[in-house]
Amino acid sequence: MSEFNEAVNTPTETPQTAQAARFWQKVAISAPDACWLWKASRGGSGYGHVWIEINGERRCVDAHKRAWTLTHGPVPHGQVVRHRCNVKTCVNPAHLELGSYSENTVDALRDGFGGVKLRAADIRAILAERYAGRLRVEIAAKHGIRESYVNEILIGRVWHCVSGLTASVSTYKSEQLSLNL
Ligand SMILES: [Zn+2]
Repeated sequence: MSEFNEAVNTPTETPQTAQAARFWQKVAISAPDACWLWKASRGGSGYGHVWIEINGERRCVDAHKRAWTLTHGPVPHGQVVRHRCNVKTCVNPAHLELGSYSENTVDALRDGFGGVKLRAADIRAILAERYAGRLRVEIAAKHGIRESYVNEILIGRVWHCVSGLTASVSTYKSEQLSLNL
């Protein structure tokens, strides 16, 4: 099962394409073993992020993940791209490695990006519904995703580039901030 990765990483690009060239223009490429810092926008989580277009739909992905994909191809299902250098804005492929997510998160991601493909507009609608007081379980049912994935959105662990929320604060705190908007 690899719906998630197919949706996000469909490697129709190669490092030679225009999209890849545009990506690397936003990177302060340095010595091979140094950190190459992302010069463009960052999400609330502190990671660089970049908009890409897949099948005519704009998607936001973490810049370091994009760097991995452009260099090595799709991220295997159930794995994430991690930094060996602990520098969140570093996109030097030599500093990146694959690691595994917790099963919970894998499930949540699969539910969000699998059978149902959410768009930025859906994320905004989900946030608006939550702010309006709708229950997570109702929102999940309406959008055809799991409640756990609604939570991932609300705490900014996924789609943070759309929501502006950050996963670096606690779930509770984030919820409080969200509801105060
Ligand atoms: Zn680095």
